[in-house]
Order: sequence, then structure tokens, then C-alpha cells
Amino acid sequence: MKNIVVAIDGPAGAGKTSIAKILAKECNLTMIDTGAMYRCVALKTIENNITDEEKIIELTKNIKIEFANDKVYLDDIDVTFKIRSKEVNDIVSPISSIVEVRRILVEMQRKLCEGKDVIMEGRDITTVVLPNANYKFYLDANIEERAKRRYKEQKEKNMDISYEEILENIEKRDYNDMHKKEGSLTIAKDAIYIDTTNMTIDEVVSKMKNIIGSENYES
Ligand code: C5P
Repeated sequence: MKNIVVAIDGPAGAGKTSIAKILAKECNLTMIDTGAMYRCVALKTIENNITDEEKIIELTKNIKIEFANDKVYLDDIDVTFKIRSKEVNDIVSPISSIVEVRRILVEMQRKLCEGKDVIMEGRDITTVVLPNANYKFYLDANIEERAKRRYKEQKEKNMDISYEEILENIEKRDYNDMHKKEGSLTIAKDAIYIDTTNMTIDEVVSKMKNIIGSENYES
């Protein structure tokens, strides 16, 4: 039987990760958060004090990233929280603009999907990584709402960051993510566009589940 492949793109704070996690559980799909992979590369460059592009590419070639039990492992170490730090937020978008870094991670992302029913989210999933996905979504929300969501998330994790700092970081990332040489954030022609600004997570999940179709669910 053919595997089910669900691809989601959208800007930071649109709800992609939270929604994909719920859909993965409810529809029995393997969830792949590609932003976490770029964040791992960013974290590793910080930890190794590397700024040289060639060295970042070399580091990416040798990186080991794994997802297990809702956690992210970088070279066998749980970095689930570390990859969400301000330091990583500040450099992840420029790092993900390095074309060779993207090519290495895109290849890894496609491999992670092989033979599995998956839900993958990021910025270039519907356009570059999995253009032939069965279901393609673009999740969006206005920038103030996205910054508000991120601020709430960070506060819940006791992270010391202001709403203004988050808004500024999201603005910068949006601009950078939409102006990359390769893999820039765009709305695929055949993607279903959902504006989540005034929707709850449950409402978005329910809308997407209706589209994916109930015949695919285990329960
Ligand atoms: O989704 P998240 O906000 O964790 O992604 C972090 C950063 O990684 C994004 O701002 C973007 O620059 C980059 N990214 C990317 N391509 C993807 C996923 C994320 O360039 N498929």
C-alpha cells in the first residue's frame, strides 16, 4: 500500500509543530520537524564556536540527528530544549540559507520518510522536499498573533525573553526565510492555505483531519 505523506509549510509561530504533533498521534503518522534539524546544525556551530561557512557545511555532513519519543537528539544527546534558545533563534535562519547545508538536510529529510506514513513540517516541504506529498498545507497567521504564541510558549518554559524581542526575531526570520537562494518560503500552488489567526489549535486540527480523510486513521 502507498504511504501517506502530509507536508506542511508556513512561517514561524503559525502553529505547524503543535498541529503536526497532534495530527501525527491521531492519524498514526511519523512526525518530522525539519526546523529542529536546522536548529541542531545551528546549536552545533555555537557549541563548536564555528562561523566559517565551509566548516559549517563539513559539520552538517557529519551530524547525527534523531527523533524519538517527542525528543530531538543531536549526536545522541537530548537537545529538545536547547535548540529553542535565543542564541539558536538568532542564527538558525542565516545558517539555513547556506545552500549546501540545505541540500544535505533535504536529502536526510527524504531518507527519514522512506517507507513510512509521515507528516513533515518546515518551510520548503511542499515545494522542495516532498512536492509529491498526498496532502499539502500552508499554515499562516498575522505576525502579532504568531509573536504572541511564541511569547506564551517561552514564558511557559520560564525563558527570559520579551514580546518585543520575539516579534523582532520573527520579523527578521520571516524576511530571511522568504528571500533564500534555495528553499525559500512560498505558498505552493497546490497547497491548501489556512489562516490560523483566529482559530484554536483544535479547530485547525479538525479542519486538516477532514481534508486528510478519516479512512486513514487507526482509531
Ligand atoms: O520551524 P522553526 O521555526 O523551528 O525553524 C527554524 C528555522 O529553520 C526557520 O526560521 C528557517 O530559517 C529554518 N528552516 C528552513 N527550512 C525548513 C525548516 C526550517 O529553512 N524546512
